[in-house]
Amino acid sequence: MAMPWITTLSEMNRFTAEVRPQARSLALVPTMGALHEGHLSLVRRAKTQCDVTVVSIFVNPTQFGPTEDLARYPRSSQKDLELLRSLEVDVVFAPSNTEIYPAGFATYLDPGHIATVFEGAIRPGHFRGVATVVLKLFNIVRPDIAFFGQKDFQQVVVIRRLVEDLNLPVRIVVCPIVREADGLAKSSRNVYLNAEDRKAALLLSRSLKRVEEMAQAGEGDAQTLLEEMRKTFDAEPRVQLDYAAIVNPATLEPVAQVIPGSVALVAARLGTVRLIDNLIFGPRGSTPERRLQLALNTQPTNEGEQRNSRT
Ligand code: AMP
Repeated sequence: MAMPWITTLSEMNRFTAEVRPQARSLALVPTMGALHEGHLSLVRRAKTQCDVTVVSIFVNPTQFGPTEDLARYPRSSQKDLELLRSLEVDVVFAPSNTEIYPAGFATYLDPGHIATVFEGAIRPGHFRGVATVVLKLFNIVRPDIAFFGQKDFQQVVVIRRLVEDLNLPVRIVVCPIVREADGLAKSSRNVYLNAEDRKAALLLSRSLKRVEEMAQAGEGDAQTLLEEMRKTFDAEPRVQLDYAAIVNPATLEPVAQVIPGSVALVAARLGTVRLIDNLIFGPRGSTPERRLQLALNTQPTNEGEQRNSRT
């Protein structure tokens, strides 16, 4: 059967009205296109958990700052279409900007403090745009389950808060980070890296791997681990570290001691390309899913925590 490529809200409404009565569960996988294996892992997971899978492709202008890469964000609709067709997705929702933000659009969500640290500090307004578009997509598609990647860990925290705070009737499933063979987290922005920067970009995943090894060998002091991470970056002038931090996964507050479920966040720039990565600490040999469970079940507590993030 042909996979519909829907671009308007009215067509999308017609589609959901048609499939809803037969579907036990409807999945939404929100993306900005330029699809890679990371996105596809979300789609595969959605297909195993739901009867109907909707993938949205929308490069959301409100989550890009004025000096960011909106205009040159990679777009590859023909390839995306083929990939999604091969996965037998039920429908692709690819609205235009004016369909999502018609003239007169004025209402935005404020995700609070959590949206002002780390990515939010470097990209002011980013999570306001993310939260607004995700809520709009939820209202348009009305999914039972929505799928997001651990790759954007802070985004996951913002979306889970949004769902809880606004009592949204949707379950959030988070899927582990998909990496290149050498460890680099897959990202649509990796295509911008020249050969030298591509090599240097490995510092992000390597620095995370290094602190994971140290933690597994018994080092639990977050400051010591962070110093080790920063040392790795100091040795490579091609990479400018934006931040490295070890945080409580529920609050994103820096922790003093690493426990299972604590998350190391890292962001760095190589020329004009910004990359992010993260690691969830867990018992030796624990699967990525187990670590995600540990992180996502952590309670927001500030006990024994202290500021340890430095740029
Ligand atoms: P984007 O198109 O970059 O907005 O990403 C769409 C979704 O795919 C988000 O939930 C991302 O977290 C997720 N995603 C992006 N890269 C990866 C990756 N390497 N592994 C797992 N999920 C990813």
